[in-house]
Amino acid sequence: NGKILENQVVLVTGSSSGIGAGIALGMGKAGAKVVVNYRSSPEGAKKVVDEITSQGGEAIAIQGDVSQEEDVQKIFSQLCEQFGTIDILINNAGIQQDANLVDMTLAQWQKVIDVNLTGPFLCTREAVKEFMRRGIVEGRSRAAGKIIFISSVHEVIPWAGHSNYAASKGGIKLFMQSIAQEVARHKIRVNGIAPGAIKTPINEDAWDTPEDEAALLKLIPYKRIGVPEDIAKVAVWLASDESDYVHGETIFVDGGMTLYPGFADGQG
Ligand code: NAD
Repeated sequence: NGKILENQVVLVTGSSSGIGAGIALGMGKAGAKVVVNYRSSPEGAKKVVDEITSQGGEAIAIQGDVSQEEDVQKIFSQLCEQFGTIDILINNAGIQQDANLVDMTLAQWQKVIDVNLTGPFLCTREAVKEFMRRGIVEGRSRAAGKIIFISSVHEVIPWAGHSNYAASKGGIKLFMQSIAQEVARHKIRVNGIAPGAIKTPINEDAWDTPEDEAALLKLIPYKRIGVPEDIAKVAVWLASDESDYVHGETIFVDGGMTLYPGFADGQG
């Protein structure tokens, strides 16, 4: 019935909450069959699945830790069993473990790199294998597959006290671009979305009091904190044929956070 992602299968990693949940709902509304991956919240995943199916969509929840190779292989074999194949991968799962450099443990460094950078590597490798095996399906999409990385404005903005996180997101930027260059000939489209400040559990401390919210808004020229739907709308477009010639690009969805807001009043 003409929905923009009709009949396409999408895996959204870490989609039992926050931006991932928003993207899963958006994909469901666009007609995609949605795989809601979660690590530790079956209840959160079930809520997202139920919301999609109550709106007439199709969705299933699959447990798995994206930083574990066997888990990722299991996620892909389960989704292929259920839906036959995959058309769209959204690498969304991500964490923060904040510490100043001199206090940062190797475990904190490693955990963030494992989830935010190695996880997307493992998922992207499995998705690309399946896209190459299957190729383009006539009438479904002009591409043989699409991959979207949810990075962050911190793929370009340095972040004191969060160097593990910023390093993981900077790593995503060049991993995304390198893979985009490598797989384009197979008609696989690869892009990124870099969110600014979006209201989700990951950054509750930054907006849960009026003082915190005011301080955060100083960094946002558009003077609004984002919501998961802001990211979901761009993700749906980026996964659809409407963006068929967009490749190897990161779209910043940040209300202008990357515009050096400290210079907004013309001083200097
Ligand atoms: P969130 O904490 O609600 O979402 C992260 C999700 O990833 C959670 O559901 C969590 O359970 C899941 N997850 C964590 N480790 C996992 C693992 N090993 N395997 C599978 N799933 C795992 O926070 P969010 O803001 O929705 O974050 C989603 C993505 O957006 C992250 O990559 C984050 O870095 C990025 N991001 C968020 C913001 C923001 O302002 N909220 C800004 C820029 C980028």
